[in-house]
Amino acid sequence: MLLILHPDTRTTSPEYQKTVEYLSTLKGITYRVHEIQGVQQKLTEVYLLGETQKLDKETIESLPAVERVIRISDEYRVLGRHHDERRTTGFEYQGLRFDQNSFHLFAGLCAVDTPEHVELMMKTLQANGQVCTRMGAYKPRTSPYAFQGHGKTCLPYVFDLAGKYGIKVIAMEITHESHIDEIHETLEKAGRPTGVMLQVGTRNTQNFELLKAIGRQKTYPVLLKRGFGISLNESLNAAEYLASEGNSHVVFCLRGMKTDAGLPHRNLVDFAHVPVVKRLTRMPVCVDPSHSVGNHERAPDGVLEVLHAAAQGVIAGANMVLIDFHPHPAKALVDGPQALTLPDLPTFIEDMMLCRNTYLARQALHNRNSHA
Ligand code: PEP
Ligand code: MN
Repeated sequence: MLLILHPDTRTTSPEYQKTVEYLSTLKGITYRVHEIQGVQQKLTEVYLLGETQKLDKETIESLPAVERVIRISDEYRVLGRHHDERRTTGFEYQGLRFDQNSFHLFAGLCAVDTPEHVELMMKTLQANGQVCTRMGAYKPRTSPYAFQGHGKTCLPYVFDLAGKYGIKVIAMEITHESHIDEIHETLEKAGRPTGVMLQVGTRNTQNFELLKAIGRQKTYPVLLKRGFGISLNESLNAAEYLASEGNSHVVFCLRGMKTDAGLPHRNLVDFAHVPVVKRLTRMPVCVDPSHSVGNHERAPDGVLEVLHAAAQGVIAGANMVLIDFHPHPAKALVDGPQALTLPDLPTFIEDMMLCRNTYLARQALHNRNSHA
């Protein structure tokens, strides 16, 4: 059961105190409080856990701090949709809005290699009006002998250059909870020139201790990749781990499923699930066509296969695209073959805007017809 409190309820107010006092008397029921800072007001949600079926909705609704009560299913308690369209969704970060209606492009390096490549990438992003990027410092690799990423040593120049070129948010994978502190300390030391969206990679989707650690902090939003070999339900529950620990600022990213059925692509593109994730949860949905398709092949129609896949996701309503670029793919230390080059950037952006506008036109068309 979910209790939505009156907006801007303070935990020191007598109404709040009376409400939690009553909740504490309920046998076999525990509660968790989630605070959501919206643009104009603070919303407090209280989740009742345990045998909530026996509780009377009206009695709970009559408690002084409670505005309304929603009976929710066990699935995706915090992030789920629960047929309650009125609950706020999404979040603000670094002056940008992330929700199921927003749209952002995160083009950048799969892995940071040299300061020169980072600078070239960011300079080109700025020249093309972009304020978000991806930069991998901690790389989870199949082979222990492969390049593992520069780790914390590259963070100072990555963050400084981001500030120099007006980059507001960097999607950056972390593979251990200690990386949160490394990122935080470096950002603080540099005077917070940019922001970071902590990325959980597909190999760590069910690394529950990592999820809990990331969920316990609220400074950084999270980009959670779908696990490449597990069900969608399992991956959505992984997102719920973050939220159940307190951080519901989560973007869910589809990146293809590992199966030979996807060959010759690296993974089987799963972007038909964009609207499914939007229906089951209130998370914004990202697509990563680079790790899905995994090549730089051009179809006979002249369009890169990776962009055909990206288009599928965006035209189906994706809210974000995460995509690999590199100034010199042949010199990239990770995933060079799937990287787009800097001259590809303006075309990529224009293509994605075409798809986004087509999605908006499709949405308008279908809403017009269904309401006729
Ligand atoms: C990545 O985005 O760099 C990455 C390793 O992706 P994934 O976890 O989806 O393989
Ligand atoms: Mn990669």
